[in-house]
Amino acid sequence: CGIFAYMNYRVPRTRKEIFETLIKGLQRLEYRGYDSAGVAIDGNNHEVKERHIQLVKKKGKVKALDEELYKQDSMDLKVEFETHFGIAHTRWATHGVPSAVNSHPQRSDKGNEFVVIHNGIITNYKDLRKFLESKGYEFESETDTEAIAKLIKYVFDNRETEDITFSTLVERVIQQLEGAFALVFKSIHYPGEAVATRRGSPLLIGVRSKYKLSTEQIPILYRTCNIENVKNICKTRMKRLDSSTCLHAVGDKAVEFFFASDASAIIEHTNRVIFLEDDDIAAVADGKLSIHRVKRSASDDPSRAIQTLQ
Ligand code: GLU
Repeated sequence: CGIFAYMNYRVPRTRKEIFETLIKGLQRLEYRGYDSAGVAIDGNNHEVKERHIQLVKKKGKVKALDEELYKQDSMDLKVEFETHFGIAHTRWATHGVPSAVNSHPQRSDKGNEFVVIHNGIITNYKDLRKFLESKGYEFESETDTEAIAKLIKYVFDNRETEDITFSTLVERVIQQLEGAFALVFKSIHYPGEAVATRRGSPLLIGVRSKYKLSTEQIPILYRTCNIENVKNICKTRMKRLDSSTCLHAVGDKAVEFFFASDASAIIEHTNRVIFLEDDDIAAVADGKLSIHRVKRSASDDPSRAIQTLQ
């Protein structure tokens, strides 16, 4: 029911500070109602070669999750991350009882290669689940959301090129989804990167930097950029741009990004916000945020959509 995610890019933060930011974000969203909460953060320092995403999930209050975070002995609170992406969620169960396994982030596999947080309902999740199970992907929860986590891994496992971007994976995934969603993804395959998208459920991004942000036009095949609107991004409040606009905000130096389902979790950090619109995909890589809108799948018939996956 509530999404909050935080990326610090070239802004050193200790794990404790990251926890505090995530928990505070969730607390601001508590009024929306929820039955469980969870976070995904990096388990190791970036200096450590082996990448690892740590999930901590708990039924009940955000306070219980907060206490649980500090009980994890594997996680040194003083470790400092120059760049880090942490995601957090409060769940209001629609599919599956309130429990730790059903709470979010949901994961692609036991190795936590991809993790996702979701607000909303995926109406074709049964078809997706059936398809993915037939391909050998094992489900552990009763949620509709888990089909998204498995689907992104399926698309990744079947990628045709090694250098496929995180944003392209998410684009392929949402073309298969029916229903309402706001989603934020994190992956061990794309360290220091974030992808967020929505359809029918709200999602916005806050940007904070002491350096001036600039924008540039990026060519996207099926879109034309509206330069006049792009310039507006440099004003204090970033206006959401029209449907034919793409946007590239560059924080060459230190920059922080906040993703939330609700402005109340962001305003204490920054007043520069961008409201995503349906089928927008926002991706952060190398401290740069780019947003583009994807074309909807050619067919609304889920069985046809699934065929295109095979
Ligand atoms: N449908 C999802 C679930 O039941 C997400 C619910 C929510 O928006 O919190 O897990």
